[in-house]
Amino acid sequence: MNHALPPGSTIGILGGGQLGRMMAMAAAEMGYHVHIYCPEKDCPAAEVAHKTTVAAYDDAAAMAAFAKSVDVVTYEFENIPAAPVEKIAAIVPVRPSPSVLSTSQHRTLEKTAIQKLGIKTAPFAPVKNVDDLKIAVQKIGLPAVLKTATMGYDGKGQWKILSAEELPAIPAGDYVLEGFINFRMEISVIVARDVAGNIACYCPVENIHKNHILDQTIAPARIFPQLAEKAENIAKKIAEGFGLVGLLAIEMFVTDDDEILVNETAPRPHNSGHWTMDACITSQFTQVIRAVCGLPLGNPERLCDARMLNLIGDDAADWQKHAATPNAKLHLYGKKEARAGRKMGHVTFLEIAPRK
Ligand code: AMP
Repeated sequence: MNHALPPGSTIGILGGGQLGRMMAMAAAEMGYHVHIYCPEKDCPAAEVAHKTTVAAYDDAAAMAAFAKSVDVVTYEFENIPAAPVEKIAAIVPVRPSPSVLSTSQHRTLEKTAIQKLGIKTAPFAPVKNVDDLKIAVQKIGLPAVLKTATMGYDGKGQWKILSAEELPAIPAGDYVLEGFINFRMEISVIVARDVAGNIACYCPVENIHKNHILDQTIAPARIFPQLAEKAENIAKKIAEGFGLVGLLAIEMFVTDDDEILVNETAPRPHNSGHWTMDACITSQFTQVIRAVCGLPLGNPERLCDARMLNLIGDDAADWQKHAATPNAKLHLYGKKEARAGRKMGHVTFLEIAPRK
């Protein structure tokens, strides 16, 4: 407890989207101030933060001033350039550490680190150009998925490859070719680790995607307890192996023969953990604030089963319907424009048995 930041301290958050907004709200509940650093004006997090700096991540002077004005720095998305984050880590603690960030933001480094821990991933091969791709296709086999090594999200920067005769004409760059996994379910586990090394894990949840974007999360995942335990153990091993302080979301594939393969990690709160705000003793947002501020972790236990539905683009127009649904909790992110594919909010449907 000696290292805990006292209430009134300021948490710096890199990124100003809805995750930053919900982190800032959890921080305020615990008496902390939040300073958002974000390249865009009027971001969802700014509305609920104590202070916002609008500047580019490679603006060294603005980053240094931000680092000096806060007591700890965390981030709400992983595609922040690693170099400026490493620089500010010399000024103020950055949690999770820049090394966790750089591992998570590069698919080859990430899969290599995970396999080193004895955990399975899809078979993969790094690719830099079309010639590499031909060799990688021979090694991995088809079908396969080619992904950009960095900056990919929601299925962006991905090509499914079905035939060696029809390879995408990629410009030279940093890619990874992965074997295509015929999974029966996609699950994720969110794990937290505190400064003292204690670990708390949320139950594995089931994720259903639409157009490559998360549509629904079902908590808990409809898998047998032994498999759920296996998934949690994988998450704990990765948290420990990475030396995590903070929160890590781990996406996994479950195959027909109940094998679990790790797909990717994100060192921050995750869309598949939004249900925890309404259905767990400690939400993922409170948990990340606790972890980065040096507090003991909260209890991640589930109070009831839940289903989270993302409101994407025009879905948000249904807000009145959701607001009128019993046992539904509506969350809107304050975004002005409902563009296609844009996450506008979410609803958590709580599975509460009627009281007698
Ligand atoms: P990712 O950006 O790695 O999370 O991939 C986005 C989505 O593409 C995943 O949620 C899966 O539905 C699908 N996907 C990614 N990698 C693979 C793979 N190796 N095999 C089959 N489907 C995949």
